[in-house]
Amino acid sequence: MTAQVSFVHPPYPWFFEYWQQFVEQVTTERLPHALLLKGIEGIGAEALATAMAQYLLCRTPIDARSCGHCRGCELLVAGTHPDFIQLVPQEKSHVIKVAQVRELTAILANTAQQGGRKVVLVAPAEMMNVEAANAILKNLEEPANETVFILVAFQSARVLPTIRSRTSQIALPTPRWGDALAWLDGQQVTRSADLLSATGGAPVKALTWFNNKQLEVHDDIAQCLSRGLKGEISPVDVGKKLAAYDLLVVFGLLLLWLQRAIKVQCAQLNDDLPVVQNLAILPAVRLYSVLDTVQGRMAQLYAGSNPNKVLATEELMLIVQGFLAERARRQRQG
Ligand SMILES: [Zn+2]
Repeated sequence: MTAQVSFVHPPYPWFFEYWQQFVEQVTTERLPHALLLKGIEGIGAEALATAMAQYLLCRTPIDARSCGHCRGCELLVAGTHPDFIQLVPQEKSHVIKVAQVRELTAILANTAQQGGRKVVLVAPAEMMNVEAANAILKNLEEPANETVFILVAFQSARVLPTIRSRTSQIALPTPRWGDALAWLDGQQVTRSADLLSATGGAPVKALTWFNNKQLEVHDDIAQCLSRGLKGEISPVDVGKKLAAYDLLVVFGLLLLWLQRAIKVQCAQLNDDLPVVQNLAILPAVRLYSVLDTVQGRMAQLYAGSNPNKVLATEELMLIVQGFLAERARRQRQG
């Protein structure tokens, strides 16, 4: 259950005040037994959670930071700390399963092996399936001594309300554009503004995209969908072309673009990404309905079976057809 994690301390600059608040709660012994960090994917919430875990398990923190060389820190970095339990989707699965929670419950029943706290990290918390979520609820209701739960959610609305209500919720803001850009430039990232725009302002995701050359994939998908929405290629061809990519990536991008198109519609914001402009021809209420469809399809893809891939591709074609019909209706109206 102990997957490899990378440790970041101190955490990203945009989390500075949250970090300070956390450290103060720890030092004054007022830390809630369960935290829920909520923020969009790609701003580094998991890294913040991991840094918190390390701080809680460090034996000799210095200047509001974990020391990096005590036994606790060493075991954590090696991925072998017996009192640090991570619940993350297991390989090839997109969900956190009940078996993982049962294993956790068994570990929590024993005293901490290193004699201090136990820390449980759940990320992303919305990926717990229903059985897992219900099973972990018991642990949250009757917290074992000296155990701290840190949950991370990118879509907190998908976390069971009963779980949310038993945690202290921290809404992590998306960093300011200028701060994010400055940070990316400091990492020697080229096309930083394009990357930041493509990732919806999430700098950590932008850096990953830069390292994995994901921007090219993004540009391809955006261009294909744009051409489909304008009727330059048929919905069938859009489906065929996009099915060549990981459909979770495709739907993830579509979700992001729909959210931006809704902002264009509702807040009269400008968006310079052509695919967003093409999506924004629908009124917000209909964009929300497409968004629902996309979220539903993503949930099915996360559950992960092959026939869903075919359905998902068809869904893409239907979505494109819907936009084309709207475009045609507008042209008729002149
Ligand atoms: Zn340490």
